[in-house]
Amino acid sequence: MNIYLKKLELHGFKSFPEKTIVQFHRGITAVIGPNGCGKSNLVDALLWVLGEQRIKNLRGENNEDLIFTGSASKKPLGMTEVGAYFANHDSETYIARRFFRSGEGKYILNEKFCRNKDVQDTLFDLGIGERNYFIFEQGSVEKMINLKPSERRILIEEAAGIAQYLERKKETAGKLIIAQQNLDSLELVLQEKSNRLRELKNQVHFARRYREIKNSRNDLLKALLQKKYQAFRGDFDLQGGKIVEFMNGESALVKEIGDFDHGLLELEGKRWNLDQSLKSNQQFIFDHNNKLLEGSKEVEKTQQRQEFIKQKMAELEQFIAESEAEIKEIEKQEKALAAELDGFDRELAGQSGSDRELAQALETIRKASAARNIEDGHLKKAMFNLQVEISRN
Ligand code: ATP
Repeated sequence: MNIYLKKLELHGFKSFPEKTIVQFHRGITAVIGPNGCGKSNLVDALLWVLGEQRIKNLRGENNEDLIFTGSASKKPLGMTEVGAYFANHDSETYIARRFFRSGEGKYILNEKFCRNKDVQDTLFDLGIGERNYFIFEQGSVEKMINLKPSERRILIEEAAGIAQYLERKKETAGKLIIAQQNLDSLELVLQEKSNRLRELKNQVHFARRYREIKNSRNDLLKALLQKKYQAFRGDFDLQGGKIVEFMNGESALVKEIGDFDHGLLELEGKRWNLDQSLKSNQQFIFDHNNKLLEGSKEVEKTQQRQEFIKQKMAELEQFIAESEAEIKEIEKQEKALAAELDGFDRELAGQSGSDRELAQALETIRKASAARNIEDGHLKKAMFNLQVEISRN
């Protein structure tokens, strides 16, 4: 069963301030009423809820003209809402449109807010898109009867929906021209592409040739590398044997180095001991040298002293010689004095006047002789001491 308009609800739309419900049944529905009672307003409401955007088609200047403007008994309203119910055999679709004096507008689809586009898409899916219905305006029937046949044809074509097909034909012809132009440009592109294809084919040929050469080069390279690998492998095995030998030699060497290190350690110990004894010897030599130095100084001192003593001895010897000479002289003088005394004694015995003076002179001579004897004794003692000291050194 086809879709049909089931119900129209108006609230605050033009001359319908209160909620008004218009039920439509299957078949023809007629709304009858006196002039100005609002019959055309119902059509306007239906067009509006179906999404009409041109307010002039709804006999108004702007959206606000659609809201009830008030009457003698009713105040103007701030908003209007129109809802339409479309039904088929098993489902029902509700579309509504709302507008406020503030300028805000809303679309409702099955109780949910949506965009106008959603409403239009739904209507299109239901088969009641803009081009699927036609509304005869007031006076259209009368006008149609009075029209010339050619004008009537246009009107009928429009009502029957042929006009839209003619329009579509025109559009399609335009599209065909555009398609032809596109085809021409496509041919040009095709020409360019075929040239490009030729170039690409050449490039493919060269690429294939390049690949062949590259493959044969790779084969040669592979063979060469294989040969090199075999040579390298032989060399590697040989070197491997040498490495094993070298490693064996190395472990023997390591052992030898270990022994050597051990010996070296022992030698180090000995060397350390030697160093210690060398140090003590050096210390001993040093001490000895010091002693030698001191000894040589002592020797030098002794030599100096010997020199001094020698000199002293020489002086003493000279002194002794002089003293001995002096003693001899004194002894000689003593003998002379003794002889003289003897002469005096003899004279004393013969002379009496000058006895006393003579006795005094004699006493003086005796005292001088005693003093000389004492001095002589001292000299002899000093000589003896000197001789003892010289013999000690
Ligand atoms: P006719 O048979 O003469 O064409 P009608 O029944 O189609 O008349 P409409 O043209 O639908 O009548 O209604 C016109 C009436 O709607 C007018 O009385 C007009 O004042 C009223 N009307 C239009 N817009 C509004 C509005 N915004 N608020 C209140 N009333 C309005």
